[in-house]
Amino acid sequence: MAQAKTYDIDTIRRDFPILHQQVHNQPLIYLDNAATTQKPKPVIDKVNEIYSLKNSNIHRGVHYLSTQLTEAYEEAREKVREFINAGNTHEIIFTGGTTHSINAIAYSFGEKYVQAGDEIIIAELEHHANIVPWQVLCERKDARLKVIPINDRGEIIMEAYEKMISGKTKIVAINHISNTLGTINDVKKIINLAHKQDIPVLVDGAQSVQHQTIDVQELDCDFFAFSGHKIYGPNGTGVLYGKEKWLEDLPPYQTGGEMIHKVSFEHTTYTSPPLKFEAGTSNYVGAIGMAEALKYLQKIGLDEIAAHEKGLLDYATSRLEEIPGLTIYGTASKKISVISFLIENIHHYDTGMVLDKMGIAVRTGHHCTEPLMNHFNVEGTVRCSFAMYNTKDEIDHLYRALIKVNEMFG
Ligand code: PLP
Repeated sequence: MAQAKTYDIDTIRRDFPILHQQVHNQPLIYLDNAATTQKPKPVIDKVNEIYSLKNSNIHRGVHYLSTQLTEAYEEAREKVREFINAGNTHEIIFTGGTTHSINAIAYSFGEKYVQAGDEIIIAELEHHANIVPWQVLCERKDARLKVIPINDRGEIIMEAYEKMISGKTKIVAINHISNTLGTINDVKKIINLAHKQDIPVLVDGAQSVQHQTIDVQELDCDFFAFSGHKIYGPNGTGVLYGKEKWLEDLPPYQTGGEMIHKVSFEHTTYTSPPLKFEAGTSNYVGAIGMAEALKYLQKIGLDEIAAHEKGLLDYATSRLEEIPGLTIYGTASKKISVISFLIENIHHYDTGMVLDKMGIAVRTGHHCTEPLMNHFNVEGTVRCSFAMYNTKDEIDHLYRALIKVNEMFG
């Protein structure tokens, strides 16, 4: 029987150098993990090692450094494949992040398959990255964007979705987990319903890969997008997974070096995926660093991280509910460790500013989900989001700081 891993929070915290500093003369409490996660030493060391000793442009050289780094880059692709259980490495495209991945499909799929009068389905709780690219496509092609409504707990209304799918629907693009509310959407069901009518589904996994095990074959999604920086990897990295049949079929969304088979002034032919979708010099250092982050997560254990974060979510929810006048936005039955809230009569910026002075980093504003703010009839919220290295002690600090905020403005 496999041995359960022990969750050693002190060792984990020691791996993240940035956490051990003072901000405004207070120990830093970093609760802005949905925006970006901090990087563990193995990731920092890997990036440092490449720039110090190994840097060379990949895929184009016969010399030692280039061949070594090309090998490391392709090994990183294999690590990503294994991490999300894709069937093939050529289904893994390295991009600059989730936004980049979604735009690639909105453009490429949109060019080939979307025509006037067609429909694209998204949901009310999308991040702007999964709204605007589809909106722009609809404007370009004279197509229609349909939006699945949510209930006041922040859950997708499945019956409304079922009624929305029709012969006109060309693609469904849905976030797996809401960055603002923490809602875990039932993407498996959303995909099954779409597939009954042969409609492909793109899953925005920006907030899910770092919190739960992803199996793209089990989900049966057609596309899956995520960002390296939200999964403890370097900035400017990301992944677009696409089923082989789609990647073979779709046109490239960017052209130039790397992605060609043959070029002449009369005509150019393209190479096969994944390189067909990786025009130009990629962020190969970042991709290798991201693979290092995935190894780190596997070492700690995704199930163990999920259990730890669930403990933090439950504890933080109960503590925050004790604070007079505090309302939590997003109370879905299935949630990850994100809590959006407002305290009555206190502006979210004021709360954020005072917390900052006490060393606590939270996010304030609309969190790139303005339509979702409209649903709740608020301009913005305060959002705390917990990661593998956060502790209940930090939540106690947050609680005491919020009591102070209340006293100052109340
Ligand atoms: N989708 C979701 C759900 C997100 O939370 C984010 C970022 O917060 C994005 C997309 C965009 O990610 P990036 O800015 O890394 O491209």
